Amino acid sequence: MRGTILYAPGDIRVEDRPDPVIKEPTDAIIRTVATCVCGSDLWPYRGIDEVAEPRAIGHEYVGIVEEIGSEVTGLRAGQFVVGGFYASDGTCPHCRAGFQFSCMNHAGFDGCQSAYIRIPQADGTLFATPEQPDDDLIPSLLALSDVMSTGWHAAVTSGVRPGSTVAVVGDGAVGLSAVLAARELGAARIIAMSRHASRQRIATEFGATDIVAERGDDGVTAVLELTEGIGADAVCEAVGTAESMTQAVRSVRPGGLVGVVGVPHDVELPVSQMFFRNVGIKGGPASVPQYLPELLDKVLQRGISPGRVFDLELPLEQAADAYAAMDERRAIKALLRP
Ligand SMILES: [Zn+2]
Repeated sequence: MRGTILYAPGDIRVEDRPDPVIKEPTDAIIRTVATCVCGSDLWPYRGIDEVAEPRAIGHEYVGIVEEIGSEVTGLRAGQFVVGGFYASDGTCPHCRAGFQFSCMNHAGFDGCQSAYIRIPQADGTLFATPEQPDDDLIPSLLALSDVMSTGWHAAVTSGVRPGSTVAVVGDGAVGLSAVLAARELGAARIIAMSRHASRQRIATEFGATDIVAERGDDGVTAVLELTEGIGADAVCEAVGTAESMTQAVRSVRPGGLVGVVGVPHDVELPVSQMFFRNVGIKGGPASVPQYLPELLDKVLQRGISPGRVFDLELPLEQAADAYAAMDERRAIKALLRP
């Protein structure tokens, strides 16, 4: 089969790879319908995360079940499925508590930018749609595999509730998804922090009521001015840098929560400042299986269109162009079709 391999920073190639096979009785093999490039794939692509040796990459997918292992009971061949960016069994204490990323049988997978994918713990990881979805829904279903579920996690962990004032730091696909999640959870006011016109447009379409283009001190000042000096009730942090975290912590009101979903890179928390303002941090890798049933329903009912974050679609063979476009910020997020 064809699939991407990251050889070194900036060097991504599509080449022949072995077809995946069932290794454990809890596995399933899916035929990929669509996959995509994640902001987190750009960390190794840019050389910020080390690339010690060539490796398969990609962790977002929707597809058709091709084959199931002997212990898979909830799926059958031919079903259209979406699953999260890691595998979880759905039955262990952490899964039952709603923190599936910490599953006692957690398995990460890289290599989903390929024609076929082996999914471990298929019963806990994959969710089937009732029937084959219309083709125009594919981008929104694919968004549930990571970015929309991650944006939802930011909104949930920051405590967004009906009537909340929410600030979202980060205007990538996850930040935009957090805006959409905040709207769905009933936020009254959503401040999107974005400097890019195309991203501001999608933020507004997703429910942002205010746009703040400033960053750093000026960004914090702008949020305080918009909230009569109080700060946001909830802040979603979807970047993961020291600068974005500082901005998030300073933009939340005393007693508020920051929901962090940007993978931290060299971030140190200002614990004293947080202590004296009663500010808390929650968040982490998204509880995708926790949210998928509700989000699938919203997409299939056409209540939300998180697939709007895909502004580039290419054949899998042109994955290198997709990475370059995202790296150079010519695209928000690129969808790939085998
Ligand atoms: Zn588990």
